[in-house]
Amino acid sequence: MAVFIKKNDTVKIISGKDRGKTVKVLRVLPQEARIVADGVNIRKRHQRARKANEKGQILSIPSPFSISNVMLVCPSCSRPMRPRWSHEGTAKTRVCRKCGAVIA
Ligand SMILES: [Zn+2]
Repeated sequence: MAVFIKKNDTVKIISGKDRGKTVKVLRVLPQEARIVADGVNIRKRHQRARKANEKGQILSIPSPFSISNVMLVCPSCSRPMRPRWSHEGTAKTRVCRKCGAVIA
């Protein structure tokens, strides 16, 4: 399956505990068809103090989740959808299914 999400895209979460959120994509893992997005699928990591002057702390780290849990938000019409692929020319480009705009 081709990954239809790119870094810095805006996506809407459609399932899971973060459902309904509209967030920015931080990282794409194409081999796994997973993405990392700002504030989604947060894992808490408890870090101990290693040196005397350090404090133990709880880190909130967004972890990867499946792209099947998101829809791409179109930058032109701001509606969530799965883009279709256009094969005009040499490059494969994404096209909004709702308004037909080409998405960079
Ligand atoms: Zn659109």
